[in-house]
Formats: sequence, C-alpha cells, structure tokens
Amino acid sequence: MGQSQSLDTPACDFCSRPGAVVFFRTVEFALDLGGVEWLSGDRFHACPTCRTLVAAANWPGLIAYAGLGPRGTRVIEGFRDHHALGAVAFEPGTNPETGRWPTPRGPALRRRPERGR
Ligand SMILES: [Zn+2]
Repeated sequence: MGQSQSLDTPACDFCSRPGAVVFFRTVEFALDLGGVEWLSGDRFHACPTCRTLVAAANWPGLIAYAGLGPRGTRVIEGFRDHHALGAVAFEPGTNPETGRWPTPRGPALRRRPERGR
C-alpha cells in the first residue's frame, strides 16, 4: 500500500480541514453546549491558515474562516481564554498524538451522563 500521510495527520480542530501543521497547548476546559458537555482536550491542532489567525489573535477572522456557528464561537472563546501562546510545530505528515501516554482526549462532544438513581 502507498503512503497514508493524510490519514495519519490530524485535521485542523478549528476549520476541520485536513493537514494540521501545528498545535496549541491549552488548559483543558469544558463547555455545556445545550445539554451536551464538550471537552477541549489539551491540544488544538491548526492548519496554516488557522495558525496565522490564532497567532494574530484574529478571533472574528478565525470564526469566519472556519464557518463556525454559535457553538463553535463559544469553543473559540474558550480556546482564546485557555491556550498557551506559541504554536508547537510538528513534522508534516506525522501525528504528534502517536506514542502519547496516557492517551489524550482530543476536542470531543460527550453526552452528559444521566443523573439519577
Ligand atoms: Zn484550520
């Protein structure tokens, strides 16, 4: 089989386009998006365009480029308030998550667990 770089490289966590080139470290945070708990994980991967927008702190530009709605806008606001300055570059075509332990939680939606009993 041939190379599968595009499968190994994370997609951009902002605009969802394939081919992230850097990640930004964040303090993990959670948002309640209409009854669904959204967990940030500790890294946000970014494609070249989103990296530039983040580095410029151009949040309206980032939201527009990524085509985000109200929920995505809240995620960006959370990222803005929790991320560490400075992008961390990684080798193109690789996945910086490979070999991490414990396995990190990436940005993900999680159903709020049912309470009761
Ligand atoms: Zn992007």
